[in-house]
Amino acid sequence: FISLNSLKKAYGNETVFHSIHLDINEGEIISVVGPSGAGKSTLLRCIAGIEELDEGNIWIEGEDMSPKPAHRRPIVMMFQQPLLFPHMTVMENIMYGLTFTTLTKKERIEKATLYLKRMDMENFRDFYPSELSGGQQQRVSLARALITDPKLLLLDEPLSSFDNELRDGIRLWMKQWLKEKKITTIFVTHDKEEAMLMGDRVVVIGNQTIQQCGNPIQVYDAPSNAFVAKFFSDGI
Ligand code: ATP
Ligand code: MG
Repeated sequence: FISLNSLKKAYGNETVFHSIHLDINEGEIISVVGPSGAGKSTLLRCIAGIEELDEGNIWIEGEDMSPKPAHRRPIVMMFQQPLLFPHMTVMENIMYGLTFTTLTKKERIEKATLYLKRMDMENFRDFYPSELSGGQQQRVSLARALITDPKLLLLDEPLSSFDNELRDGIRLWMKQWLKEKKITTIFVTHDKEEAMLMGDRVVVIGNQTIQQCGNPIQVYDAPSNAFVAKFFSDGI
């Protein structure tokens, strides 16, 4: 369904990653973990087409994404630092995700309201981003990404500024929702437990490439090398 083929990215002489190969099934959730600076965000930006790869290509349903600019790819990315439109309210920001759909205005409002509720943000409907906390902005940003039904959803630490209770709730709902809608997702997190809970498979990135890819139990119980073992044992 989706193929990442020998992806490589460098900034000047510094290689961020190379030889990234991964085939992803439709509706699969892939968790990506790895040390800070390992290149997780860069990988997502390259897949989204916001940054150019030095090598390799990305195929979605038999179509090469390389010639397509970011806005022509059937991919939606939620950034590590929420990017909201400052001149739009919370509701308008969420509804922006529906701009290119054929829904009527009434349907858009209904759908956006549903996501507003899911994120427990009903009371902030008419607030502007500058009036929100970081975690609240992150919730709006997540709602805006989830509402779009993309072929490929890229989430960069989407739950990192949530408090624990909220995180547990949204995490569960989000997994169910992604599965129900069969949305193929790459989910970057620095939280190993979260990676295990969310992912059908877990990819461990480090030393510039994929160190292991497997189902959560495999990766945890049978690390394929010392890097993965160390990563899961003492956290690097
Ligand atoms: P974190 O877990 O802290 O979010 P990450 O795995 O997402 O880390 P990236 O943000 O992808 O890591 O960064 C990977 C490497 O690429 C870092 O060494 C970073 O300094 C470098 N890098 C990222 N963006 C740029 C850029 N625009 N120019 C030069 N170097 C960059
Ligand atoms: Mg990052």
